[in-house]
Amino acid sequence: MTPRNYLNRPLAEGIRTVGFRKWYERELLSSHAHMLIALLSTIALMATLELFQGGSLGDKLVNVLLFILSGALALWSLRRYLYLLSHAEAVADQANCPQCTEYGRLSVVEEDRRNGRLLVRCRKCGHDWTLLP
Ligand SMILES: [Zn+2]
Repeated sequence: MTPRNYLNRPLAEGIRTVGFRKWYERELLSSHAHMLIALLSTIALMATLELFQGGSLGDKLVNVLLFILSGALALWSLRRYLYLLSHAEAVADQANCPQCTEYGRLSVVEEDRRNGRLLVRCRKCGHDWTLLP
């Protein structure tokens, strides 16, 4: 199955293919890219407010369209940024092995798609625990 988004793979697939630390790094990079999009689209939103003064009716309609588009893009990217960041942090908080406290060196043992749980194993000591993505 081809992933929908190359950078944002599901947790189990990400751990299997690139490892937990790379998955976490990519989630953070992707979330901050969305933050940048939110910032730029907010600047575009403010620029369309400046353009509302003057111009013909056609110009004003184009400005309204640009205002709506940049507002929608800003809201979508801000929502995506917050989701990716909070999800990555929530999973990272559980990535320490409960037995030896090794961080992020884990492999997927079993994926419970129905309950959304992931049974993982520490690659240092072999202890199993459950991640709640
Ligand atoms: Zn361990």
